[in-house]
Amino acid sequence: MLFSVDENKKRKRMIREQLERRGIEQQAVLESMREVPRHLFVPDKLKNKAYHDCPLPIKKGQTISQPYIVALMIEALKLEENDRVLEIGTGSGYAAAVLAQIVEEVYTIERHQSLAELARERFEILGYDNLQVKVSDGTEGWQEFAPYDGIVVAAGAPVLPEPLAEQLEIGGKLVIPVGDRDLQELLVLTKESDGELNKERIARVRFVPLIGEEGWVAED
Ligand code: SAH
Repeated sequence: MLFSVDENKKRKRMIREQLERRGIEQQAVLESMREVPRHLFVPDKLKNKAYHDCPLPIKKGQTISQPYIVALMIEALKLEENDRVLEIGTGSGYAAAVLAQIVEEVYTIERHQSLAELARERFEILGYDNLQVKVSDGTEGWQEFAPYDGIVVAAGAPVLPEPLAEQLEIGGKLVIPVGDRDLQELLVLTKESDGELNKERIARVRFVPLIGEEGWVAED
């Protein structure tokens, strides 16, 4: 069953205990995460752990982020309904689905073809029609639909990829983990009217590496 009572309960508890208790308060984020069936974004054998307070492994050595981190990043974007958002690192597609319930248009880039395809299938089954997936190096952004009101990077970068800063709208926010390969600071960059980026650090995090032209060199 797609939407069982049991999963619904687990989701409500996840919202209460992992998100609200830690200070997530934006209604659009809480509502979206109360609805998106996270258990359909994890490998079958991990379904029973889908609502646990941790990241989980998916294919290709990647991870679906911990629910709290997804909420923290999306809340930091301060989104409005008619916004257009770019995500780098589709992975399972979970965070993109959460975004798609909040804003009008979502563009998401994944470097692994197999992950992108699986995410696309999920979006189709769940009926998201405001979401587009592309297989490429997300450190170059997605020029075609720029500028974006929000950009969220779900992998750890050594430095801020310049094309992402360029493709951000004035007043828009870019959320990105920047640091070394296994520990980063989660930065929220706001593009001021003069084009300068105002920087805030909101957490210490551990993401899989952002691999690409303006990221790390692949080890795989
Ligand atoms: N948002 C995802 C979490 C993804 S983990 C979710 O909700 O499940 C980070 C993802 O970024 C991985 O799938 C990885 O393959 C991808 N990635 C790493 N470097 C990338 C790049 N340069 N462009 C696009 N995707 C990249």
